[in-house]
Amino acid sequence: SLEQMDTSGMFGEMKALTKDINNIFNKAQLLEESRQEFVSNVSHELKTPITSMKVLSESLLTQSDVPAEMYREFMEDIVQEIDREAEIISDLLTLVKTDKGPDSLNKESVDMDEFMDLILKRLRPLADKRSIQLSYESFGEIHASIDKVKFTLAISNLIENGIKYNVDGGWIKVSLNSDHKNFYIKVADSGVGIPEDCINHIFERFYRVDKARSRDTGGTGLGLAITKNIIILHKGTINVYSEPGKGTTFTVRVPLGEQ
Ligand code: ADP
Repeated sequence: SLEQMDTSGMFGEMKALTKDINNIFNKAQLLEESRQEFVSNVSHELKTPITSMKVLSESLLTQSDVPAEMYREFMEDIVQEIDREAEIISDLLTLVKTDKGPDSLNKESVDMDEFMDLILKRLRPLADKRSIQLSYESFGEIHASIDKVKFTLAISNLIENGIKYNVDGGWIKVSLNSDHKNFYIKVADSGVGIPEDCINHIFERFYRVDKARSRDTGGTGLGLAITKNIIILHKGTINVYSEPGKGTTFTVRVPLGEQ
């Protein structure tokens, strides 16, 4: 009957509405969960160096005649932990700065080739230390509207990773390219590569493939999260391709923007 049709129609609408509300609720819940997870991760990461410092200091304090050599060794370890703590805090502050809306960008028209030259010049000594050949190739003149300070950080992170996760005597090839809409920056390395089951996680905050090795090389696991934030603020994309044992290639695509 008509009456029945009405009720079933209403029922259907209500069901749809309930589904919408549930979706919104689930999204909010998910956000809340990831926020809680983030806070818990931050606390854990900040606590680790403090725990080490406490253990080191206490073992010095509880011994009566500490040999000068041992004292020195422990103090060096403590300083290392302090540096580590400072590095995490500094990366966290940067992450927060890049976690805002696109209005936070300070864009200007930039000659991309000059821009890249400067980044490579700054990082070359770091590559030289490990005898890594850092080469750069660009195609044509490219002007783009970017936030120079933030974009420098985004690209430097990629090249620094290319150095950190490389083999001594390896190579890094950086290239700059464009079409009528976008510019593309590629950073390819001959490093250790990223295992297939890890590759989907590398842009997550605090994620490190090899925590132990990353700790030695001084990684916080925030670098790629910062880079991704900056690329997204520029309405761009970042992709990664990797072959374990052979190397990794990151490709950044960013709209040229209004000149
Ligand atoms: P980290 O501070 O540890 O370098 P990142 O966010 O920059 O953190 O990178 C996350 C993880 O992704 C690293 O710990 C490393 O395991 C992996 N990774 C990033 N870049 C590369 C690369 N070029 N080659 C191999 N592994 C990489």
